[in-house]
Amino acid sequence: MGCFQSTARRQFPGHEDPVLLASQTAFSVSEVEALFELFKSISSSVIDDGLINKEEFQLALFKNRKKENLFANRIFDLFDVKRKGSIDFGDFVRSLNVFHPNAPQEDKINFSFKLYDLDNTGYIERQEVKQMLIALLCESEMKLADDTIETILDKTFLDADIDQDGKIDKSEWQNFVTRNPSLLKIMTLQYLRNQVELFC
Ligand code: CA
Ligand code: CA
Ligand code: MN
Repeated sequence: MGCFQSTARRQFPGHEDPVLLASQTAFSVSEVEALFELFKSISSSVIDDGLINKEEFQLALFKNRKKENLFANRIFDLFDVKRKGSIDFGDFVRSLNVFHPNAPQEDKINFSFKLYDLDNTGYIERQEVKQMLIALLCESEMKLADDTIETILDKTFLDADIDQDGKIDKSEWQNFVTRNPSLLKIMTLQYLRNQVELFC
């Protein structure tokens, strides 16, 4: 055990005890250990420094390091809990936890709210939904006409923006997502598993 631990600590600056991480998340110890294997391969794909930088994250999520993607950027920022421009192993496991099927719905709703609230104003504005929609469509190589996108946005805001002030607050989002659970599909491990060739 000592051997594994000291090697891990030297090469992986943010390495934390799998037993501790399992106790703080919905993952079992063996799942955390499997996540460590995944972390090792992602964090060494460009610069082997025990940390995942944005390029490595994008590469893992979309197999493409050149194409700038708003969605990948945003998820990276939310995983980069300590805001140091890289993701350590502890950040990785705790952030992935929100995608676990047993993670509280509340956490998934909060994470998805932050995902869309690109400028951190505490409201989801129309422009933010538009940018995210375009990024997601682009990633799945779908293209919609501009007026189709505007129609989708009109419908979304008519339905979600209950007080019609042009922006979606946290409780409007909570309400909207509860009525449209498919919106949280993005917040499932299956979704990530389809993106990354994931463990298990
Ligand atoms: Ca790295
Ligand atoms: Ca906002
Ligand atoms: Mn509103």
